[in-house]
Amino acid sequence: MPRASAGTGPTKPLQTAGSLETILDNCIFCKIASGAIPAKKVYEDDDLIAFHDINPAAPMHLLLVPRAHIATLADCDDSHQALLGKMLLLAPKLAQEQGGGYQNNADGPAGGFKTLFNTGPDGGQEVYHLHLHVMGGARPWRGQR
Ligand code: AMP
Ligand code: ZN
Repeated sequence: MPRASAGTGPTKPLQTAGSLETILDNCIFCKIASGAIPAKKVYEDDDLIAFHDINPAAPMHLLLVPRAHIATLADCDDSHQALLGKMLLLAPKLAQEQGGGYQNNADGPAGGFKTLFNTGPDGGQEVYHLHLHVMGGARPWRGQR
């Protein structure tokens, strides 16, 4: 079960070598979760933390990150169902608080945000610790998917 097949840096998942301790010691999001390196946190509980992306792709760009080290969405299984649900349910609440909320107004929908999991090299994943991007505000992705 590849749950601990983690990244040692921003670009490469370590699949075969290194102890779990080494992997976790080298994971930037584990370090943020433990408080070893700082981040602009907007939320934390026993399961999750959320903070502003250091290189935002939108006026509001949050990352929702489980405290537990899981390398990718593809490494999740049935045991992660509640965690994934919690992440998805938290996204609109944090977006609302951070200025990227969606409103279903009487005169039509307004605001809103994009949610994104990148998985693997072809999915554009750079940090091999599961995270959900929540991006709102203007629409830099307009015309893209
Ligand atoms: P991904 O390409 O889906 O793996 O996204 C990784 C994201 O993590 C990128 O948008 C980075 O800008 C962001 N990131 C990397 N290091 C940090 C950090 N120390 N604090 C906040 N965001 C970070
Ligand atoms: Zn990690």
